Amino acid sequence: MSIEFGCQAYRILAAELPSLPARITGASSEAAHGVLAGVLVHETVVAEGRAASGKNAKVKASAAALDAIKGLPRFEFRKRYGCNCTSAAQNAAEKAAEASD
Ligand SMILES: [Zn+2]
Repeated sequence: MSIEFGCQAYRILAAELPSLPARITGASSEAAHGVLAGVLVHETVVAEGRAASGKNAKVKASAAALDAIKGLPRFEFRKRYGCNCTSAAQNAAEKAAEASD
């Protein structure tokens, strides 16, 4: 993700789900006692993954995030998630070019 879009401001968070009775959540008992992971790009949640372990939840969230941004033009990615990493890098490059004149 960071390579394709030049975005450095993404992270994966994980949190244990509260152990609610399945009849309340409507989910299976396994899903109700799992870990929820979320992929954030500039504080916007791109995708989520839920699994019994934190590691698997993060893997699911990562895969879902890649699916969500797959094929997205760079400008659309930046607009949707408020990403300015690439433009900041470009500005720095332009300034460096100006300074070298
Ligand atoms: Zn970014």
